[in-house]
Amino acid sequence: MTDRDHAIVVEELHKHYGTRAALDGLDLTVPHGVVHGVLGPNGAGKTTLVRILSTLLRHDGGRAEVAGFDVLRRPDEVRLRIGLLGQHAAVDEELSGRQNLEMFGRLFHLGARRAGERADELLGRFGLADTGRKAVRHYSGGMRRRLDLAASLVMAPRILFLDEPTTGLDPRGRTEVWQAVRSLVDGGTTVLLTTQYLEEADQLADRISVVDGGRVVADGTPDELKSATGGDRIDVVLHDAGQLGRAAGLLEAALRSAAGGGAVAADAEGRRLSVPVADRMAGLAEAVRVLAAAGIEAADLAVRRPTLDEVFLHLTGDGAADGTGGAAGARPAAAAAVYADKEGTTV
Ligand code: ATP
Repeated sequence: MTDRDHAIVVEELHKHYGTRAALDGLDLTVPHGVVHGVLGPNGAGKTTLVRILSTLLRHDGGRAEVAGFDVLRRPDEVRLRIGLLGQHAAVDEELSGRQNLEMFGRLFHLGARRAGERADELLGRFGLADTGRKAVRHYSGGMRRRLDLAASLVMAPRILFLDEPTTGLDPRGRTEVWQAVRSLVDGGTTVLLTTQYLEEADQLADRISVVDGGRVVADGTPDELKSATGGDRIDVVLHDAGQLGRAAGLLEAALRSAAGGGAVAADAEGRRLSVPVADRMAGLAEAVRVLAAAGIEAADLAVRRPTLDEVFLHLTGDGAADGTGGAAGARPAAAAAVYADKEGTTV
């Protein structure tokens, strides 16, 4: 049965390379007009998923539909409706940005005039109008990636697959690509974005599927993932780093009973303590009270949402310890691996 209400529907997808399972029963549903992040460590199966959905690879179990068409039975219909930005650039270094885009237009059978017009439209849209006539070998990493993005949009696809679009870029290049992706979605394109960067998923994605070992281990909006792992945190910055240990002990004991608080994380360099709490207002009031009573001066005191990094830390089992629970449907150990693998840190 086809599903035209969704851009992408994946059910129980399996793919083996020899005896190794790259995808192991992966499920995914993406509505139209959103950015869906697929977040996972090296080897999680992200590229395999994108290659199957873009008809470059055949799966060996389950079902995948893109734009309402089965990728195995109607690959031609799927290809008409998608664009793909892979991990490796497809542009020619010796040609200018404009010549590259014109070439893609001609490959897709646009006439010479239309290919030139489309190249100019896309160069303008991605902030490359001024440099469009320079050879690509003179471009910065961010400019190259924006040109790659422009090339994948020559035929104005409704659904765009971006496979780790900012890997290897410096922070400025990354921000440039993020802006370009946002402007695409404003224009109605559906984006499936794979990434190893938590921050990237947090910045761009409406929903995130955390993938590990070829299956989805946690799923939700960035906010849902954050809420499901313990809600808010109280952050305190002290004037005097020497009081950090005493303040940590006092806060942990007081917030545990008054606000469902968890373990205190201390950052000595930043003179900062951070405590997850179930009840944000009670936590804030209790933190102020206990510090004042002990004569400990705070330079800053705030309640904030957890970051996605903290979500993954939390899913390692700290959550069970502080009683704030875990994400519905999440497999804590597997999600923890996402964090450990990316940061090279064990928790
Ligand atoms: P990365 O972030 O490194 O790109 P990924 O999440 O995209 O990783 P995949 O490239 O899909 O992961 O790989 C999933 C698993 O399948 C890995 O264990 C990988 O070693 C294996 N794999 C991928 N391609 C092949 C292949 N052509 N032959 C054999 N094994 C493969």
